[in-house]
Amino acid sequence: MTELKIHVYPDPVLNEKCAPIEKVDAATRKLMRDMAEMMYKYPAGGYAASQFGILKRIIVVDDSYGEDPARQFRMANPEITWRSPETIVMSEGCMSIPWGRVELERPERIKFRFLNDQNEIQELEADDYFARCVQHEIDHLDGILAIDRLSKIRRKICLKKFERRRKMGKSIDD
Ligand SMILES: [Zn+2]
Repeated sequence: MTELKIHVYPDPVLNEKCAPIEKVDAATRKLMRDMAEMMYKYPAGGYAASQFGILKRIIVVDDSYGEDPARQFRMANPEITWRSPETIVMSEGCMSIPWGRVELERPERIKFRFLNDQNEIQELEADDYFARCVQHEIDHLDGILAIDRLSKIRRKICLKKFERRRKMGKSIDD
């Protein structure tokens, strides 16, 4: 595999908007494969290409953390087409802010579509942790980090806490 560099806050690339893919070709497929391998080497429920400094609308998600091969999704141009009015609070970890978790309220269920690695349009419905991962990764493609979804004051408090934890050498779940 090609080892990709994980960009970490406050790297400005994380606030950039990613460009759509025209067609899922061999180069895109290779990137998807590398991203999927990174997802198991540096465990996360998903990654967006911008976390590796690549400004393309590509994400990988696996809500089983490698337990179930059928739960691995490689997506180009993912787009949410429906959000449930019901919301839920969950804690989100992010390898680009690897010092702790962020409690966030988001829609509980979503419908979304994307191009799979065969360049076919696929539509799926997601709930629970899968819905959470997809929303988090699509946010990355728009340059939005989990902390950016907090109110101004909560964002400030959260970043202070993470700065303390970073200095203590703590990672997400320490
Ligand atoms: Zn993230």
